[in-house]
Amino acid sequence: MLETLRRIVQEVTNARDLDQALSIIVERVKQAMGVDVCSVYLHDHERDENVLMATDGLRADAIGRVRLKAGEGLVGLVAEREEPVSLADAPSHPHYAYFPLTGEEHFSVFLGVPIVHHREVLGVLVVQRRNGIPFGEDSVTFLVTVAAQLAGAIAHAEASGGIDGLHRRGGIAEPLRGQPGAPGVALGSALVCYRGADLEALPERQVDDVAAEEARFLRAVTAVRKEIEGMLARMQTVLPAEDRALFDAYLMMLDGDSLVGDTVARIRRGSWAQGALRDTLVEHVRAFDAMEDDYLRERVEDVRDLGRRIMDKLSNEEPAAPREFPPDTVLVGEEITASMLAEVPRERLRGVVSVRGSSTSHVAILARAMNIAAVMGVSDLPVGRMEGRQVIVDGYSGRIYVDPPAPVRAEFRHLALEEQELSDELAALREQPSITPDHVGVPLYVNSGLLADITPSRQSGAEGIGLYRTEFPFMIRDRFPGEDEQCQIYRQVLTAFAPAPVVMRTLDVGGDKALPYFPIEEDNPFLGWRGIRISLDHPEIFLVQLRAMLRASSGLGNMDLLLPMVNSVAEVDDALRLLRRAHHELIDSGATIDLPRVGVMVEVPSAVYQVRELARRVDFLSVGTNDLIQYLLAVDRNNARVADLYDGLHPAVIRALLQIVDGGHAEQVPVSVCGELAGDPAAAILLLGMGVDSLSMSTANLPRIKWVIRSFSQQRARALLQEALTLEYAHAVRKLLNAALEDAGLGGLVRAGR
Ligand code: PEP
Ligand code: MG
Repeated sequence: MLETLRRIVQEVTNARDLDQALSIIVERVKQAMGVDVCSVYLHDHERDENVLMATDGLRADAIGRVRLKAGEGLVGLVAEREEPVSLADAPSHPHYAYFPLTGEEHFSVFLGVPIVHHREVLGVLVVQRRNGIPFGEDSVTFLVTVAAQLAGAIAHAEASGGIDGLHRRGGIAEPLRGQPGAPGVALGSALVCYRGADLEALPERQVDDVAAEEARFLRAVTAVRKEIEGMLARMQTVLPAEDRALFDAYLMMLDGDSLVGDTVARIRRGSWAQGALRDTLVEHVRAFDAMEDDYLRERVEDVRDLGRRIMDKLSNEEPAAPREFPPDTVLVGEEITASMLAEVPRERLRGVVSVRGSSTSHVAILARAMNIAAVMGVSDLPVGRMEGRQVIVDGYSGRIYVDPPAPVRAEFRHLALEEQELSDELAALREQPSITPDHVGVPLYVNSGLLADITPSRQSGAEGIGLYRTEFPFMIRDRFPGEDEQCQIYRQVLTAFAPAPVVMRTLDVGGDKALPYFPIEEDNPFLGWRGIRISLDHPEIFLVQLRAMLRASSGLGNMDLLLPMVNSVAEVDDALRLLRRAHHELIDSGATIDLPRVGVMVEVPSAVYQVRELARRVDFLSVGTNDLIQYLLAVDRNNARVADLYDGLHPAVIRALLQIVDGGHAEQVPVSVCGELAGDPAAAILLLGMGVDSLSMSTANLPRIKWVIRSFSQQRARALLQEALTLEYAHAVRKLLNAALEDAGLGGLVRAGR
């Protein structure tokens, strides 16, 4: 059964459109269960009806014409109860509704199960038999499993169908839903980004050092061979020998002379490896395509796949070939990465849409820093069919509209204009200090990581940089940047802000931040080797960074140093020892550099409980709410499926934050918040009430937060905090704070909060 199920899911996933997907389902399920009828009813949201969409066994002309009101018939009963209904004599059930159109009177044994996706009933899957005993438990569990497995594929096909059917129907576009990634509204043309080399776009290049190029190519081949051997080993226990033969065939191709040998010959004639491989691939694909034998023609796919794998390995060493970017580019992809974003000239980039990820993914943070609307986790997005389409990105609500009809476009243009007006109004606060009506100063800083942000950061009215993520310069390179290279980058940032403070964080890779040249394979990357753990395990990398930072700060005196992902006091002790060593080395070489102020990020639960011990060792604490929330609530910050559970106003998060602030203050150490929560107007009220000393956020959010600080006295914020602490639900806290924002005349900010 498992095999049957796997095959059905596979076929449905590959279906061209919704109609084809549903036909496959009814045919295959009918066959697998040996029933007389299998049908799918889908819920029509607009009319709140369940519509017969596909059937194998009932009359085909009933499709689309049998429509049951919500709750009507046995189908309505299944949908309403959200659980299976199994009956031996369906016509005698009080809910039974008879439609002569279906020819249904012949079938009395009924089993219906709901198709549920993200808690929403999409429809009902029904099987029927003429007569006999009711369906047994095995049949029920099989059908429930089929429906659960297919729900995602149906939602996906519905979404794609909606997009393609739009022109035909001329109807109002249903938006695709994701998570708000970065605020803003944008309209532009989709540009699909994918990993791996684009064969067509590969330029011709000649190389001088043929032997080195050949060695580079062979290294890539060896790496791919290792990958495939690994797959083969993993597959040993799960795949029968004949299916594993594919991998054997791959290995044979890698060992054979044609693919590798022909490419090497081309390299020896002076071509660079990618060009040589591309030409070999094209030649092979053509030769296979022309073959009579079906089996051999099938191998074309294998050749292509293998080629792509080698190409990927080669491209990891080389910057990707430049692409053409439309003037209103909306980057669309399965997983948009920071380097993809970094590739597009800023003035051409309007928005970002990613199938994976959520509002705390680094690419979303980057988008916020760059003021670009982003929607993350649009799991039903048919990426393959998006290129060149018009897309509206609504970064507030987390929705996107594909090829929207004119009225929707007009509405969004209007919204974009309003948004601009609000920004202009907020911009007027730029020169105003961030002080509450009862005269409490809460300095606002920006989070940054790109040199490109320096100007917008300075123009935002920020009092400095509260978090400079040093990993971005590491991520967009093809090797670790050297000490001088790093020093130059840091110096530019420090100089641009001097004498205002800049908090430089030491390298925080791992988790979802991969360096292409330093791959880390782990089952649980967020619980693995990341942040300070890597730095302490690699003092040769850490010391280079510390020296570069110290040198960069020489004579400026505005650098603070921040340690990420700290989990124990021992890590702080070790990091401080290495810092003193780097400092001594520089002093010994004749430099005059002061030791910077050092801070610890509080972003894992253990640090909350040892906050006083940590505070005693350093000069300041900075709360990284992005990670703290993920670890406290056990919700992956990048997993769209659980993104609704990721809530910074969860009562547990509020209590942890209060404990951190109180702990820091008990040791006379200032506490700042630099996670995205600091940029949420509702959360900012609570943080003000807790007595947080400063806030750091993305540039886009800064003016709003200044407005909040200037509107709420600390006394009022304290009262709201006390009230919030009595509430048991995150949504109740949100409601309380939104009402306070509206009372203060800041209703416009409510929308910006999550
Ligand atoms: C955080 O975790 O809140 C934080 C600021 O760090 P990052 O988002 O870079 O992990
Ligand atoms: Mg973090």
